[in-house]
Amino acid sequence: MHELTLPSRTQTTRAATAFDVERVRREFPTLDVQLNGRPLVYLDNAATTQKPVAVIESLARFYRKYNANIHRGVHRLSVQATNEYERARTSVAKFLNADFEEIIFIRGATEGINLVAQSFARPRLRAGDEILVSHLEHHANIVPWQMVCEQTGAKLRVIPIDDRSDLELDALPKLITERTRLVAVNQASNALGTINAVDEIVAAAHAHNVPVLIDGAQAVSHMPVDVRALGCDFYVFSGHKVFGPTGIGALYGKRALLDAMPPYQGGGDMIRTVSFGKTTYADPPQRFEAGTPNISGAIGLGAAVDYLTELGVERFAPYEDDLLAYGTELLSAIPGVRLIGTAERKVPVLSFTVDGVHPHDAGTILDQLGIAVRAGHHCAQPVMERFGVPATVRASLAFYNTRAELDQLASGVRKAIEVLG
Ligand code: PMP
Repeated sequence: MHELTLPSRTQTTRAATAFDVERVRREFPTLDVQLNGRPLVYLDNAATTQKPVAVIESLARFYRKYNANIHRGVHRLSVQATNEYERARTSVAKFLNADFEEIIFIRGATEGINLVAQSFARPRLRAGDEILVSHLEHHANIVPWQMVCEQTGAKLRVIPIDDRSDLELDALPKLITERTRLVAVNQASNALGTINAVDEIVAAAHAHNVPVLIDGAQAVSHMPVDVRALGCDFYVFSGHKVFGPTGIGALYGKRALLDAMPPYQGGGDMIRTVSFGKTTYADPPQRFEAGTPNISGAIGLGAAVDYLTELGVERFAPYEDDLLAYGTELLSAIPGVRLIGTAERKVPVLSFTVDGVHPHDAGTILDQLGIAVRAGHHCAQPVMERFGVPATVRASLAFYNTRAELDQLASGVRKAIEVLG
């Protein structure tokens, strides 16, 4: 095992005092519920995040005050719904530093990656071409590429990870070849928390004119994202992991690439004209939003990114760094606990195994204590296989978590060892 160094996103330890966590917690009603008769300790934020009142109210307001279908209606409600839906697109564009036309509303990161695989990659791929992913990906950033490889005869290649769970970027010059057609990597790993050097990956790929998709599902709630500064070609994320609703997310694509892509699905709202002889398609983003979209979801996502922008990632990132360092220290002090994923730059994810205790049993004991964690392979089976474990317990944090909750996690793990170990 490598010696454990405390992870940090910032490399320097910053004081975590400016952030008023108690005030922030009051904005999240679910944090007040009881789990098994105890106050909920919610440490499953990589699976989904809780929602602030601002988001809940934006959904309620839509359904109470101006529920209507968008884009085609001339009546006032439809105009208002359309305006709010498109205003949410402006919010998301600002959030990522993209242009309005470059933001496509999708169901979530999974659908965004499938859209790029089918509309961008598939028409360009020939037998023997290559798609490059990393060993650290969620299944959502593996399976859609395997499917398009099956459809075209292309091959999947994989950037390896080292024992600390950092990508082995030294391998890039060998892995990016004249057959590489796309690189798809996450900005932060859901299973282990590693923050990947996506800027280096983009530079290496672009040196060979290879476009890059970044899966930002685990990044957007923890760090500022600027797709222009990153220079990536596509970026996807899910609303529900960034304090917004489920069933909505965003795909960013560079304008020129989106313009050149065929539709992903056909139907209403994505056409210019339809006749039985010939149908022409609308420009992006409408071209990629066939059918009635998740209107309330998009409005809720707009409220979520506005909330996050106002809260200020620069304010809570040092606080989260402190939580991660504290949790790492607490768990590594427990005999029998093995932390998996000890990269230097991490989002606040603590993935671990406990000697002699199955992760699901540990999860069940923690649940009885009111502590919600995830136990399993986290939709990242190749990562589990790389570290020789079938599953881990994963505590994943958000800015509304506290050191006291981590104390409870650590004593819960000790209890699990006492009972089961
Ligand atoms: N990528 C990563 C890194 C994720 O963590 C997740 C969700 N766990 C996804 C993709 C898929 O997101 P969704 O299920 O919201 O489409």
